[in-house]
Amino acid sequence: MTVAAATISVGDELLAGESLDTHGRTIAEALGDRGVRVVSHVVVGDDVVGIEQAIRSALRRAGLVLVTGGLGPTLDDVTREGLAAAIEQPLVEDPDGLATIERWFAGRSRPMPATNRRQALRPRDAVLLENANGTAPGVLWKGSEATVVLLPGPPRELGPMLDSVMDGVLADAPPRPRVVLRAHGLGESDAASRIESLMERNRELPVATTVSNSIVSARIRGRSSDDRALVDAIAAEVESAWAPYCFGRDADSLPHVVGRELAARSLTVATAESCTGGGLGAAITEVPGSSEWYPGGFVTYANERKVADLGVPPELLASEGAVSASVVEAMVAGVRGSTGADLGVATSGVAGPGGGTDARPVGTVWIAVGDRDGVDRRRFRFPGGRDLVRNRTVLAALQMIRLRLLGESATLLWEWSESGDGS
Ligand code: AMP
Ligand code: MG
Repeated sequence: MTVAAATISVGDELLAGESLDTHGRTIAEALGDRGVRVVSHVVVGDDVVGIEQAIRSALRRAGLVLVTGGLGPTLDDVTREGLAAAIEQPLVEDPDGLATIERWFAGRSRPMPATNRRQALRPRDAVLLENANGTAPGVLWKGSEATVVLLPGPPRELGPMLDSVMDGVLADAPPRPRVVLRAHGLGESDAASRIESLMERNRELPVATTVSNSIVSARIRGRSSDDRALVDAIAAEVESAWAPYCFGRDADSLPHVVGRELAARSLTVATAESCTGGGLGAAITEVPGSSEWYPGGFVTYANERKVADLGVPPELLASEGAVSASVVEAMVAGVRGSTGADLGVATSGVAGPGGGTDARPVGTVWIAVGDRDGVDRRRFRFPGGRDLVRNRTVLAALQMIRLRLLGESATLLWEWSESGDGS
């Protein structure tokens, strides 16, 4: 069984910082799921000698080498040549590969450009791997001690190929059971202290936490398929320790989960947005089928629109200011009234960088979620620049909707109590 892998990303644009090398991560994750350790990852330019040296060096330390990029049809795509040099084999044209590429163009009623013929080349003892989403086939070479796989660079071509390639070259290392739990509204140290004993390194399957874009994740990974029950049991422990902040698992996102909870109750939610400028509506409609629970809403950035579209009383705006509990509450009432939605959600805040005052510093945001039983109004003070403040507002609003649907009350991270000093 292969125990170590080395990965190589090829592309001048990656070295120049013009595009981000995401394949390194994608492939490392897929390998990690199968218990294969990545011992090195390098990025090299579109240069035959550089690619050859990177492959030679990777072969000295790993039994499996995965290379992405540089399989395009143009002369600057030279990963095939780099591999041929590293394993000292001539490139030959693969007749079946050529026929596949010709069919790809014929199926799109386009003539095949002459340069695409290069994509049917492979080192003499290698085989081509089918690419259902593009013209560049992958290349697989199995030596006596090691295997090298070349995969296309475009993510929508690489992604679908990855699973079958892994199944093929790592048949004796099937994916290990894994659960990732996702929570929002509690800080990382709070999240960690709630599951401290589960995180101890000497446990059978220690839990690891990470934070990204305000979402705290806990990852539990089994050593083999025998660990399925243990992984599930630990996941259940984390879930209860993180309740009610834990909103889902694996690919779940807050918009998906909120949509699911609304659909399960046959309820709808409408949005009245100021500082998020439509971001909340955009997040809700990320989910296919969201018209079932989202009729729409209003982006009322200026006070006049809050008055005209949502019926917020001008006197209230004058006396309380747009960033206030009473105004977000009035926005909720207005949007529920005009759309007939069961729930309304409103945001109003100071996203910055300008516009802050002592009483309402940059990052101050009011969010309200209401239904026929009442309104939950909360003030937050989000750290970070304009983008972060707006993104954090969207996530907090979604979590407030979720908590209200579940009948749970919980203080969220960065909430700033009405009477408190914000500390
Ligand atoms: P190529 O196979 O070199 O023609 O790659 C085509 C496109 O795939 C590039 O322009 C990039 O946008 C994308 N790409 C290539 N390598 C990577 C990588 N390591 N991570 C993310 N995207 C990549
Ligand atoms: Mg390239």
